[in-house]
Amino acid sequence: MNKKYIYTTPDGGTTMYRNEISSNTKERIGNKSSEPIGDKKTALVMGAGGFIGSHMVKRLKKEGYWVRGIDLKYPEFSKTAADDFIIGDLTDLSIVEEAMMLKIDWLEVGFDELYQFAADMGGAGYIFTGENDSNVMHNSGLINLHVAKCCTERKVNQIFYSSSACMYPEYNQKDPDNPNCEESSAYPANPDSEYGWEKLFSERLYKAFERNHNLNVRIARFHNIFGPEGTWNGGREKAPAAMCRKVIQCADGDTIEVWGDGKQTRSFLYIDECVEAVWRLMRSDFTEPVNIGSEEMIAINDFAKMAIDISGKNIEIENVDVPQIGVRGRNSDNTLYRDSIGWAPSQKLRVGMEQTYDWIKSQVKNA
Ligand code: NAD
Repeated sequence: MNKKYIYTTPDGGTTMYRNEISSNTKERIGNKSSEPIGDKKTALVMGAGGFIGSHMVKRLKKEGYWVRGIDLKYPEFSKTAADDFIIGDLTDLSIVEEAMMLKIDWLEVGFDELYQFAADMGGAGYIFTGENDSNVMHNSGLINLHVAKCCTERKVNQIFYSSSACMYPEYNQKDPDNPNCEESSAYPANPDSEYGWEKLFSERLYKAFERNHNLNVRIARFHNIFGPEGTWNGGREKAPAAMCRKVIQCADGDTIEVWGDGKQTRSFLYIDECVEAVWRLMRSDFTEPVNIGSEEMIAINDFAKMAIDISGKNIEIENVDVPQIGVRGRNSDNTLYRDSIGWAPSQKLRVGMEQTYDWIKSQVKNA
């Protein structure tokens, strides 16, 4: 085992090597091309092996940060850009403590920023069947309980928490043409999934630590984030990836299945704009939960037609009745983000879908 700490050993290579590991950490790698922390800002990204987390790591590296990632797994589709990466289970308190332990010149310091993306989650096929409810609540709940407490003890300067539009009450999302997802509509609470309830609980948890322990927290409610390097098969994939995959694997003249009657509406935000919105939120002084999503609402059958049009194939849609559909309508309301932070995503859905389609096509080809 290599005993060197990565932040004291800038040796210029590009390959990863094993870093110091404790008894609880399963594996740990450092990036040989990293430079020492020096006076760089530091960030800890939880869920750095996942879709949004791995993109956030890349952005933070571009901005000149020293970054540590932690996850149950490495990113699936490209090598992590993190300077230090821990494979560990964040439901274990000792792992959370270890992840937040940062030494510069042997002095213990708190991370400048922590991004909490780790969650037991997936698309509709994972969170709406009911089969994963206890895991979703227990695992994600435990992670956030540990993180909120340790952040204050380890003196993390600022934390970002990724909540979800799934915390909005079902009763405001019954009309597919006029869903209400304004931030102030969250209460009286009635999310349509345990996943949404856990997100709501954890929002409140972080706000309680803000009130009682001065935790410096930013909270975003993500609305369907998509793009390259997101899960595209296996049961945890979201609608955009599933739609692209089905169309790519379908022969010309054949039919794809689309869940529900296809009239249910959603909006989808491209990953680069999501990362930009998180970045800007963290640099703002706005501390209430705020939507991060697109306002370009689309009916699911029209969304399927978009994927079919991108493929250039002649494909029919068959709507199938399944239980795991979710609310009738959902769209991001960006008024609060726009008014408070002075920016909003604007890229057309079609542009992001074309990029995602091409990426999934290459994945299918190489599978
Ligand atoms: P993802 O599943 O790709 O990433 C989550 C990561 O957390 C995974 O890599 C997973 O291995 C890791 N993780 C889970 N349990 C862990 C544990 N016990 N210890 C360590 N790591 C663990 O999901 P994503 O799409 O990147 O989403 C990131 C965050 O944003 C999640 O909290 C999710 O709930 C939230 N969110 C995402 C969307 C979306 O559309 N992608 C929408 C709303 C909210």
